[in-house]
Amino acid sequence: MNSAFSFEIKHTSQGLARVGTISTPHGPIQTPCFIPVGTKATVKSVLPESMKELGAQALLANAYHLYLQPGPEIIDEAGGLSSFMNWPAPTVTDSGGFQVLSLGVGFKKVLAMDSSTFRADDVIAHNKDRLAHVDDEGVTFKSHLDGSMHRFTPEISMQVQHQIGADIIFAFDECTTLHNTRMYQEKAIARTSSWAKRCLDEHAALTASRSDKPYQALFGVIQGAQYEDLRRSAARDLGGMSSSGISFDGFGIGGALDKEKLGTIISWVNQVLPERKPKHLLGIGAPEDLFIGVENGIDTFDCVLASRIARTSAVYTMTGRFNVSNSPYRRQFVPIDQTCDCYTCTHYTRAYLHHLFKGKEILAATLATIHNERFIVRLVDQMRDALIGGSFKDLKAEFLSRYAVKPVASH
Ligand SMILES: [Zn+2]
Repeated sequence: MNSAFSFEIKHTSQGLARVGTISTPHGPIQTPCFIPVGTKATVKSVLPESMKELGAQALLANAYHLYLQPGPEIIDEAGGLSSFMNWPAPTVTDSGGFQVLSLGVGFKKVLAMDSSTFRADDVIAHNKDRLAHVDDEGVTFKSHLDGSMHRFTPEISMQVQHQIGADIIFAFDECTTLHNTRMYQEKAIARTSSWAKRCLDEHAALTASRSDKPYQALFGVIQGAQYEDLRRSAARDLGGMSSSGISFDGFGIGGALDKEKLGTIISWVNQVLPERKPKHLLGIGAPEDLFIGVENGIDTFDCVLASRIARTSAVYTMTGRFNVSNSPYRRQFVPIDQTCDCYTCTHYTRAYLHHLFKGKEILAATLATIHNERFIVRLVDQMRDALIGGSFKDLKAEFLSRYAVKPVASH
């Protein structure tokens, strides 16, 4: 681990849960932490200043989208992602593997979490919208913007992510879904392992040749779907991997995560990975899943859900989600959530948000997103405090006893 990047565990409790600080060239991240997603170097409809104000400690952007637009060289010229998007705090990019391959198989992550829709590889292969093809060297894919052909290899992903310049970057992996067969998962694990080594080599070379730039930490990604032996062997493999004199600074847990088995899968991996390195759970952000992640040793999370659902008028409350554009909220002159301390809840009512959504006003997205991001960021902050205070189990039980209630119109 480089001196510009470190992870200090400050508190451990029973089991795998811990509290710590990740230090990056752009500042610290107190963990556990929820990292909001700004796919194209912006959290849609919200100013970076507002994200800071609502407590976001870091933001995650997407290497695939930024590669296509504006192009990584533009961000490099701007002085890196943090400077380009006026976010003077830590940034993260994912490797592009998930986007490339989810476009390729035509499935969204939400399907990958639903084991009731199991399919075999051949179904995926025959998908008429297939936009990507994987081989042992990398992935060839068609841009979702203009149909142009592109190729990502582990080396290209590292080059792109170095140009983008986030504090934490991810190794290029093959992201499978629950639809793939066991045989395919084995193949993908082997491929991801060889790609991980190539990422370490390329990352070491780029770090040396760009030594005037802030240090970037590289996280390996653990795949293996719902199979215990594959998850554990991938964790052993990447956890102990070193090449060109370096090893991974941290780890991401990715790929097909069966919601029912989420905690079990995370614990398999985190029992094996080096304890003193940070663990990131990729693309998970539903409140009930965040509790499961934290108690099984996850340090950071990212998820686009909070902002994506906000734009469709779905807002979080302590009792569950509801759609503020539904008719019962037309005359409710109270905040979205009485217990929320966000800018939206301290200044606006459900009735006003209902009006903005009905009128298709763009301020609707801004106010709803500020609330949802604050809700999730704060929830994970509360988990951190509860771990320190020894009350995590109580917080979880109390939250889930209320949150599990299906939202009704009177909320
Ligand atoms: Zn709020």
